[in-house]
This record gives sequence, C-alpha cells and structure tokens, in this order.
Amino acid sequence: MKIVFASHNQKKATEIRSVLPKGMSLLTLYDLALEEEIPENEPTIEGNSAFKANWVLQRFGLPCFADDTGLEVAALNGAPGVHSARFAGLDRSDEANMNKLLAALEDSADRSAQFKTVITYCDGLIQQQFTGIVTGVIAKEKTGTEGFGYDPIFIPEDQSLTFAQMQLSEKNLYSHRARAMAQFLNFLETR
Ligand code: IMP
Repeated sequence: MKIVFASHNQKKATEIRSVLPKGMSLLTLYDLALEEEIPENEPTIEGNSAFKANWVLQRFGLPCFADDTGLEVAALNGAPGVHSARFAGLDRSDEANMNKLLAALEDSADRSAQFKTVITYCDGLIQQQFTGIVTGVIAKEKTGTEGFGYDPIFIPEDQSLTFAQMQLSEKNLYSHRARAMAQFLNFLETR
C-alpha cells in the first residue's frame, strides 16, 4: 500500500517512514513532482493540517495525510505554536528560531512546553484528525545533532536528553509525531 504524505519535509518523512508497518510505503510531494509550497496561513495547527491535506487531495485526487506541528511554550502563553516555523522570520531558520526562544525564556523560571502534531487524513469521503502531544521543558542551551527544528532545545518530560541527542528510535518512544502516527495507523488498520 502506498500513502501520500502532503509534505516536502524529508526529516518528517524519515520519522514517519520509521514507524510505518512493512508493506506500506510513503510518497512525498517530491514523488508527485510538486515543487510549489502549500500555503500555511490558517490560525491553528488543526486548520493548517486540514488545509494541507485537502489542498493535495484537490490537486491530485489522491487520498493523503498531512502533519502540522507547533511548539507551545507555557511562559509565552502557548507561542510560538502555529507560528513555530516562522517564529524568527520568514526564512524559517531553525537556528534563529531556537535563539529567539532561548532569549525569550532567559529570565523565566517556567520552561515547560509541549510539541503538538495534528495529522489530517482525507480521501474525499472522510476527513479525520489525530493529535499527538509530548510535554517537556526547553533546555538552557542547544545540545545534540540528531533530528531537526527545535529538537536541540526540547527535553521530554522525565528525560535528561534533548530530542537532538536521541536516536530516532528513542525519539519515537515519546514524540508528538510518533503518538499521532500510532493513532493514524490504528485508524487505517481498522478501516
Ligand atoms: P511545520 O509543521 O512543518 O509547520 O513545523 C513547524 C515548526 O516546528 C518548524 O520550525 C519545524 O522545524 C518545527 N518542528 C516540527 N516538527 C518538529 C519536531 O519533531 N522536532 C522539532 N521541531 C519540529
């Protein structure tokens, strides 16, 4: 079975492939030869996720799923949240985003945060969403080279390493994306 992932993000695709059962393969927007970026202008993570999945369904007529993710920081009232990718500017620099967040929390005793992933599946008949959350804290500095995005500054609850210090198999034990994917795969199995 082939399943279309409405994304150009190869790091996300790698994470998702690592939890797919044998016999299921993932096609990304590169496989569909789509270079255009899908707009992400909705006011919520749920809205962006649904928009991306529906955009690809309408364009290609293929059942597909999308992932939208945000980092919600308690001391910043849930920011950057839906704006996580462009927190420090339109060029979506991971380094600049992390630096801005570390600076914003410099004087904060509360460093608690959560990653939230919303996966939307749609096939023209149904649309369903699956949410995965991992709680944790924002580290004082960047550590580790694995993963992507904000991984070097996020430590999941009850752990001592950042996501960027973990191998993918370990990140999958806790991650927002792995948790949302587990629900999605369960849904696909029972259809
Ligand atoms: P989006 O879902 O691609 O819009 O991602 C929003 C922002 O969160 C981007 O800056 C991503 O790099 C970041 N992000 C998404 N997933 C993860 C993750 O699993 N770890 C760390 N950062 C992530």
